[in-house]
Amino acid sequence: MVKVNCAQTQTTLTTKKCIQMIENGLKPRKNDLAFSGINICKEVYWNLTPAELIEQAILNGEGKLTESGALMCDTGKFTGRSPKDRFIVNDTKTKDTVWWGDINIPISEDHFDRVYNKMIQHNENQKIYVRDAYAGADKTHRLNLRVINTLAWHNLFCHNMFLRPERYKLEGFEPDFTIICCPEFESDPKTDGTRQSNFAIINLTKRIILIGGTAYAGEMKKGVFSVLNFILPHEKGVLSMHCSANIGVEKHDSAIFFGLSGTGKTTLSADPNRQLIGDDEHGWTENNIFNFEGGCYAKVIDLTREKEPEIFDAIRFGAIVENTRFHPDTHSIDYENVSVTENTRTAYPLHHIANVVSPSVGGIPKNIFFLTCDAYGVIPPISKLTQEQAMYHFISGYTAKVAGTEAGITVPQTVFSACFGAPFFPLHPTVYAEMLGEKMSMHNTNVWLINTGWTGGPYGIGTRIKLKYTRAMITAALNDSLLNVGFRQHSIFGISIPMTCPNVPSELLSPRETWKNDIGYYQKANDLARQFIENFKKYREYANDKIMSGEPKENLKYM
Ligand code: ATP
Ligand code: MN
Repeated sequence: MVKVNCAQTQTTLTTKKCIQMIENGLKPRKNDLAFSGINICKEVYWNLTPAELIEQAILNGEGKLTESGALMCDTGKFTGRSPKDRFIVNDTKTKDTVWWGDINIPISEDHFDRVYNKMIQHNENQKIYVRDAYAGADKTHRLNLRVINTLAWHNLFCHNMFLRPERYKLEGFEPDFTIICCPEFESDPKTDGTRQSNFAIINLTKRIILIGGTAYAGEMKKGVFSVLNFILPHEKGVLSMHCSANIGVEKHDSAIFFGLSGTGKTTLSADPNRQLIGDDEHGWTENNIFNFEGGCYAKVIDLTREKEPEIFDAIRFGAIVENTRFHPDTHSIDYENVSVTENTRTAYPLHHIANVVSPSVGGIPKNIFFLTCDAYGVIPPISKLTQEQAMYHFISGYTAKVAGTEAGITVPQTVFSACFGAPFFPLHPTVYAEMLGEKMSMHNTNVWLINTGWTGGPYGIGTRIKLKYTRAMITAALNDSLLNVGFRQHSIFGISIPMTCPNVPSELLSPRETWKNDIGYYQKANDLARQFIENFKKYREYANDKIMSGEPKENLKYM
């Protein structure tokens, strides 16, 4: 019997035997696997390079090489995150701070320990890939991550998606947080406190994330995001945001793009005229905005070089494509193939995009975009919000979920998700909203609402707004070309719609005009307004009169 003290978890683990592990790769001098509670496993591969991991993944039968050079892998049963199986350990640290409910589901300390111990035991017979990485491009607010994977391609995903320490820094690496991700390990809902066999459990006290029963790699990325969304606002006074960010080449003006899944954060932040800061997760300090990640996770359904050249060209050796299929004769990726899922994705490191700033930091944003993919076709494609409307819309977080981003969603569904990312925010939404409100008024930031969804009618009748027009509207806002075009107010939402916009047909700017059916349009718009009002009831007690003035009002003429 060997007793090993696990420094990080403060747990004493008892193991039956001690075998000499075969270790490969670049291993830190101190803080070995025992630091993370693992004392035995079959083989350990430390901080392998992308080429080594790709070789391992192929030899293990985890993926195939495509003609582009990218590694193609499947995520198995789960082709999206599983929000109902994401738990936070309820303990003294989180009891009174986390906003518990359907989103932040509590699990007991005992259940966590049970699953943790079972996973450690499970790993005794596994080949393990370890990656030491950072989350947070701003050194002051950085989190040191150690990811322990049983799949080589997952470890490559973490190499691509998190920040990569210089090789010489790895020697003295000290993890702040450990992620243990074993897709082949399943929990037992009868004894483990989980809902079903798959789970993602966050323990903010022991600083561990456990993921099992699912091979959807996005769980690791969004698990770390959830952790930062607790630590940064709560402990460091930094606003954390579910947004992409880029920066103007000439004026160095930063812009951020908030939006739920499928609304266009990744697509619209990849702009040939601007440098990318990051595509999904950022922090806003007193002086800057900074990316949490070191890579992009882009959807690739129907991807073409013509529509999205930056993303298309980023898919090369080192990149991963998930759940796609290739043409068997050439191994070239068939982006139209949705036989596995519509949520086909690529994960590549930021340096695969030519226009990136390094480090991924920018100044205080001059423009904020709220992206919504409105399946009703009601919201104008671009409108300007007052600060009050901005607060109201930020807390509301309206969009329509588009097929495939989460398990079980196949047609668009109306969603209100606070802060444009409720599933990832452990604190009450008003904590983030208040911080954003203070920053917006301090810096007098412009806020724009962009509908990247339907025009000319609702889903089924209308069509999705062309990407080139959405890009033109965003460019116009960023270049100050909408300063003097004249605005009219929407009769229900009160938001200001520009009369004209360079490179966009004017009739597209008014959704009512594109419908060619006034009664139908206003009925749907009233219907959506009522949904906003109903949803906001739960926040009313926290909202002041100014925020409430941003609420839509039904147009009584069309009741
Ligand atoms: P996630 O949080 O899941 O990463 P996201 O906000 O980054 O989501 P994108 O990956 O940018 O969303 O997805 C937007 C998808 O919608 C892309 O596949 C894009 O090609 C498509 N699309 C079609 N029309 C538009 C439009 N007008 N504006 C933006 N995206 C559009
Ligand atoms: Mn994205």
